[in-house]
Amino acid sequence: MSTDPDCLFCGIVAGDVPADVVHRDERTVAFRDINPQAEVHVLVVPRRHIVNAGTVGPDDAADVAALLVTAKAVADAAGIGGPDRGYRLVFNVGPDASNTVPHLHLHVVGGRPLDWPPG
Ligand code: AMP
Ligand code: ZN
Repeated sequence: MSTDPDCLFCGIVAGDVPADVVHRDERTVAFRDINPQAEVHVLVVPRRHIVNAGTVGPDDAADVAALLVTAKAVADAAGIGGPDRGYRLVFNVGPDASNTVPHLHLHVVGGRPLDWPPG
């Protein structure tokens, strides 16, 4: 298993850093964002340390697919997965996208109408 001892989200995956975890499985962990931008704002991360979506390679395919499966489960559990609701899935990549934590994470944001385009 690839982990980085200096990585905040590896620390959450390991249980060494406290977080409001809403889902755990073999490949992913999901926890509430500490600075939520909507009623529902959950981060889904792979257990393996991957820097961001711009570094993903073929060997990471199963982890990336698992992020989407977990995001759907998180949205359904939060009550925003039905056809009359909806949510946004976001990968921020690099400084222009305000990517601050270098461990791949999928934002699940919803519970209110979301503007497009984003800022
Ligand atoms: P990004 O800008 O895509 O890198 O997003 C990083 C996200 O991690 C931000 O939305 C932060 O609010 C969130 N965050 C940072 N530290 C923590 C933490 N300890 N627990 C939960 N979320 C965090
Ligand atoms: Zn990490």
